[in-house]
Amino acid sequence: MPKTKNLVMPIVCSECRQQAELDLHTWCCDLCGAPWEPVLTQGLEPSTIHSQTAGIWRYCDWMEINPLPLVSLGAGGTPLLPATYDGHGVWLKAEVQNPTGSFKDRGTEVMINMLNQLGARQVVEDSSGNAGASLAAYAARAGMMAEIYAPETASPTKLAQIEMYGASVKRIPGPRENASSAVREAVNAGAVFASHAFHPAYLLGQQTAAWEVWEQLGRKAPDFWVTPVGQGGHFLGIWMGFQRLYESGLIEKMPQMVAVQAAGMAPIALAFQQHSATITDVDLNVKTIAEGVVVAKPVRWKKILSEFQQNNWIGITVPEEDILPARQRLARLGFFVEPTSALAAAALPWVFPFTKPGDIMVVSLTGSGLKVPIPATSSN
Ligand SMILES: [Zn+2]
Repeated sequence: MPKTKNLVMPIVCSECRQQAELDLHTWCCDLCGAPWEPVLTQGLEPSTIHSQTAGIWRYCDWMEINPLPLVSLGAGGTPLLPATYDGHGVWLKAEVQNPTGSFKDRGTEVMINMLNQLGARQVVEDSSGNAGASLAAYAARAGMMAEIYAPETASPTKLAQIEMYGASVKRIPGPRENASSAVREAVNAGAVFASHAFHPAYLLGQQTAAWEVWEQLGRKAPDFWVTPVGQGGHFLGIWMGFQRLYESGLIEKMPQMVAVQAAGMAPIALAFQQHSATITDVDLNVKTIAEGVVVAKPVRWKKILSEFQQNNWIGITVPEEDILPARQRLARLGFFVEPTSALAAAALPWVFPFTKPGDIMVVSLTGSGLKVPIPATSSN
């Protein structure tokens, strides 16, 4: 890919607030080890939306990225579709329609442009499948090599998808955390870490989901937004996107965020339920069919819990036996999602009692059912 003029991305540590400029190798704060966040200084102005551009780059000014980037597979611009669930109206945000079949592409498309501008030719990442597939696709598009560290129990379809894009898959035995440890070793040896959990440009790209829904609802915020939470990049990105709309005077109130996790792997949802300022240890060997939320200690957990303390968020833990029936119900409405995505629908019966008539609820459908096509795995 040819290069445009260099993009500069100011970043700040999410904990010690050290400011820096994004580079290829300082993948977390060199003082305290916390993840970086993008520094954004401008208010959001609707007239700067590139209305002729589809997808995430219609908001390139809001992301403070100029000029328009060169590496794209067309992330974003996903439909927001009405449906009825248990007699309640909901809006389904079909993130399954992103280029690799998951919401991850919003963040990856922004991140890969930054890495490309900085001269990366080879990248590594750890993933349970979707982030790896997303990075593999964008690396192929950018002419980079990608190496993905995945748990050996990840969906074979997701691993096949990664390999089809030409990336190399390192299958790591044991709990999901082992893949994270393995990729850190590669990074410590000099590899460029294109991490959906750590990279500030990935978090920036996730904000576009909030802005799209704001436009799709006629320039207003929903009352509730329900989404599965693994690392929490989508969840936190949406919140930060709405924060910037609020600070710019474009919405009158923030949505109530609902974090959904599988009952056996629910560090964030349980912390919400217990009004805890910290997360408790979960059993690393727990098995859930919702493989995308198997993250015992989300990288940005301190930020998520600190925002929770100041806001009225909801945490829902879904029993394992409710996941596949919810997936089936969504399919009967025309939406084929992977089991992790079905968590959000399975949580709705617990969310509806918080609502009042007329409330607008958005539900993220995070990943395509084609990634986990076989339904009969409830005994896993
Ligand atoms: Zn720091």
